[in-house]
Amino acid sequence: MERKVRVRFAPSPTGPLHIGGVRTALYNYLFAKANGGDMILRIEDTDSRRFVPGAEEYINEALSWLGIGIDEGVREGGAYGPYKQSERRDIYREHVKQLLDAGKAYIAFDTPEELDAARAETPNFQYDASTRGRMRNSLTLPADEVKRLIDEGTQYVVRFKIEPDRDVKVNDLIRGEVVINSNILDDKVLYKSADDLPTYHLANIVDDHLMEVSHVIRGEEWLPSAPLHVLLYEAFGWTDTMPAFVHLPLLLKPQGNGKLSKRDGDKLGFPVFPLEWHDPESGAISAGYREQGYLPEAVVNFLALLGWNPGDNTELMTMDELIKKFSFEHCSKSGAKFDYKKGAWFNHEYLINKPDAEVAALFKPLMEKKGWTGFSDEYITRAVGMVKGRIDFVSDLLEQADFFFQAPTEYAEKDVKKRWKEDTPRIMEELIGVLESIDDMTSANAEKIVLDWIAQNGYHLGNVMNAFRLAVVGSCRGPHMFDITELMPKSEVIARIRRAIATLP
Ligand code: GLU
Repeated sequence: MERKVRVRFAPSPTGPLHIGGVRTALYNYLFAKANGGDMILRIEDTDSRRFVPGAEEYINEALSWLGIGIDEGVREGGAYGPYKQSERRDIYREHVKQLLDAGKAYIAFDTPEELDAARAETPNFQYDASTRGRMRNSLTLPADEVKRLIDEGTQYVVRFKIEPDRDVKVNDLIRGEVVINSNILDDKVLYKSADDLPTYHLANIVDDHLMEVSHVIRGEEWLPSAPLHVLLYEAFGWTDTMPAFVHLPLLLKPQGNGKLSKRDGDKLGFPVFPLEWHDPESGAISAGYREQGYLPEAVVNFLALLGWNPGDNTELMTMDELIKKFSFEHCSKSGAKFDYKKGAWFNHEYLINKPDAEVAALFKPLMEKKGWTGFSDEYITRAVGMVKGRIDFVSDLLEQADFFFQAPTEYAEKDVKKRWKEDTPRIMEELIGVLESIDDMTSANAEKIVLDWIAQNGYHLGNVMNAFRLAVVGSCRGPHMFDITELMPKSEVIARIRRAIATLP
């Protein structure tokens, strides 16, 4: 029988979710939705020393912002809860006992000092079949001694008893079968009495099993843990329901050598977090894609293509299109360069394709901060529509569309030198008269009348039009001049020409 697809995104709330983690969440989501499956969000908070307040909320907010929907989780509930590992202690305790009773795990009392001594004595010391016989554990100590130590409250850990000389096979849907020999694995700690909590490995496996996870999709950095996870599934007798593994390629530095880090972002000026993060301890603020003005759909599209392609050259894809096309067949094994400039390009494309009114709505809060108030939605929308093609971010409109909302206070020096000639003030006076005579200021009509006037008088077309633009815009840039003057009140256009005449030499 085909298994129902159930995937989980299982972050540890140890800080802000890194952009690589977001990609992992996205691929889980795309795969689940492509296959009619469920997406679980499990909070892996068993390492109490690394808990960071606010991190869980951050994860939820980031996924919501991006439209990565969760079917089961702490907020959503579900039939397999609780979805936070710190609330599942009883379950783990029971499973640790199960392994101990079956002789697949053992109790170890070695203190940190004793472990250090063993490491100092044996080069490349590893706690495993070759060394466990000389350590202080339930395999070497008499049973009553073990009981006495526990009763006395001695701290201990439970270790997984890994059998030596076994080839462990990990079936990875991107990498194929990965085989490693169990001799390189150490007897991993599964549980610590000190905080009565399991380690990542045990909790992760027990939960994947109990939550009926069919596919474990996670970053490549977890590949070394996979053989151990396979052995744990075996030790519990769950081999039949072992999930398929998918280890996603690393995100690499933009230059391509080495893993992407926060430092790369700081150096080159791009965020490595989805949302801005305020560190609760240091107060330091790390930039986020949302606050930098990226559209969530652009971030999703950008991330989707870091390690996967649709099998052709299509680049622009909505979430629904990504879901339709997603499969592991087109995932790459090798790392994906984090081409952050491509992220800005995606944002540009999504802004162009967004209805003008929506871009205008995103722009309005920025306008307010500037004090550009009193403009109708229609005016803002049309202004935005005219310059939208030139921006990567909504905030670029502050520079690209400023003249629609405030008269120039200064004029670009270079353009003045080139276009504001001796006879320009006189010609501009004439232009005012021409404009005043026009009743219908629609672009084509005004253009025809003004160009006719220029031709009839034998004026230099480029000089006159650029002087006109200089007066209205403040420099020789911007959309078609008569589109601007169609939108702007004629009185404002004329006032600006007057001001230029009065101000410029
Ligand atoms: N808690 C691990 C993390 O922080 C989960 C890794 C996995 O998906 O198994 O990424």
